[in-house]
Formats: sequence, C-alpha cells, structure tokens
Amino acid sequence: MLLYVIIGIMQGYRILIVEDERKIADIVKAYLENERFKVATAETGQNALELLKNGVDLIILDLMLPDMHGEDICQAIRENSQIPIIMLTAKSEEEERIKGLGIGADDYVVKPFSPRELVARVKALLRRTKGLKKKVSFNNGNLIIDASRYEVIKNGSVVVFTPTEFKLLINLTERPGQVFTRVQLVNAILGYDFEGYDRTVDAHIKNIRHKIEDDPRTPLYIKTVYGVGYRFIGLPDED
Ligand code: CA
Repeated sequence: MLLYVIIGIMQGYRILIVEDERKIADIVKAYLENERFKVATAETGQNALELLKNGVDLIILDLMLPDMHGEDICQAIRENSQIPIIMLTAKSEEEERIKGLGIGADDYVVKPFSPRELVARVKALLRRTKGLKKKVSFNNGNLIIDASRYEVIKNGSVVVFTPTEFKLLINLTERPGQVFTRVQLVNAILGYDFEGYDRTVDAHIKNIRHKIEDDPRTPLYIKTVYGVGYRFIGLPDED
C-alpha cells in the first residue's frame, strides 16, 4: 500500500529533458508521460536554461549538446538551484561520469539505457530529494504524518485514515499552498481520469477535516478555494 501511495504522489512533477537527439528525448518523454509526469524538452543548453525559469522539479540532462557542454549547464544551474539532475552520458565517457557527479549531478545513466530504468531512477531521485520525507510535522507538532508507518497523528494520538484519505492528504501536504482542483485530486487518488467524482473528493475532504481540524468549519489545514478546489495551509515545522 505504501508503495502505491509513493507512486501516486509522483504524478504532476515537472520533468525537463535536455537532449538534442530527438529520438531519445521522445522515447523518454513518452515513458514519463505514461507515468503522469509533466514533461518539457529542450534541445539546447540555452533553451534549457530558459525553460528552467518556468519551474521544474527534475532535469534529465544530456552531457553532449550542440551549444553547451552538459557540465557547464549543470554548473550554471547549481549556482542558484538544488534541483535534482540526472545526467545522461555515453559509455565511453567514464571520466565524464565521475566529473558529472562531482559538479553537482545527483545521478547518471549511461547510454544506451532502458527508458524503464531511467523512469525508475527519476522516481527514486524525487523520492530521495523531495517526495516523501518519512515524517512531516505541521503547526508545532499538532499534525504529524508518518508515511513510513502510514500514520497520521493529531495532537499526539494516532488517527485512523482510509487509504484514499491518506493519499489525498499526502497529495495536498506535499505541496503546501498549492491549489489543487477537484479533478487533479481525483486523478491523484484514483490514478486515472474519472469523471463525476468531484463530490467524492468533497466527501473525503470533509472526513479528513473531521479527523485533523480542531474546528472543521474554520480549518487550519485544508482550505477550500471556492470554485476551484483545495489547498493545504498547515505550517511545516523545522526538522
Ligand atoms: Ca547529445
């Protein structure tokens, strides 16, 4: 079940593929989109640095590009961002690989690679760097979500959540402040598009509020954004 939750929250992450070999870029894009990642592609370093300004959660970066060396792009990115980077390298570039990790890439994949393996690496890296912190705490310990134990603790007591409620809560807390539409939440909890489930989301949110809010009518955690959906407004505690 936990695995399912982890996979469930992966969708919606924005991945930028920087690769001038169109064929490779297209295949990787297709595999990632199949896993519901949002994917953008760039064929040059300049284009990549432009697209980065739009907000990206992870970069897949080819080492050899027509205008810039992947290493330089990596360094440019690292000057002001800790965004996870997976470097693509050719087999002959043994030293380059090591250099790649030395200049701030988080992982590397050697060409030719299996797209499946790359997707697995993407997920592993997201999990490691942002996805599931094992335990997150909000509002001075008032609400604790322990994903490794599949537990929600409110005011020091464990509250029983259904798997759907848990997924929904994780999905919201994972990006505090971000507004999620009902459709996005339905997709997140069910894993595929399903029409006519808006009210289901409302029902789940209502149940969750009764479990984690002191007063569900004036929520401190899940706020209704009228006409749109919901967002999580709890304040994360320092680690
Ligand atoms: Ca290339």
